Amino acid sequence: MACYTKVEKETCIACGTCGAIAPEVFEYDDSGFSQSVLDNNKGVQAVPEEVAEDVEEAYEGCPSGSIKLNDTPFKPKTPVSS
Ligand code: SF4
Repeated sequence: MACYTKVEKETCIACGTCGAIAPEVFEYDDSGFSQSVLDNNKGVQAVPEEVAEDVEEAYEGCPSGSIKLNDTPFKPKTPVSS
């Protein structure tokens, strides 16, 4: 099954775990925060099957829960309404 991923940079603590586990998918910006290189961190391009297990491991290993996984593409962020 296809999966999609992106990083919530607001909560990332720049620990370096995900890039060590799945370097094909996660890289760090100039401040050390992680992002998905697949689609500029939008979560709309399916994770390649050959790295899907690594992405899942990174997801499970992220200490701040910042890596998001979904089986459908993420929707663009919309303003929070109350
Ligand atoms: S494992 Fe989580 S907290 Fe650590 S760099 Fe990656 S996204 Fe950020």
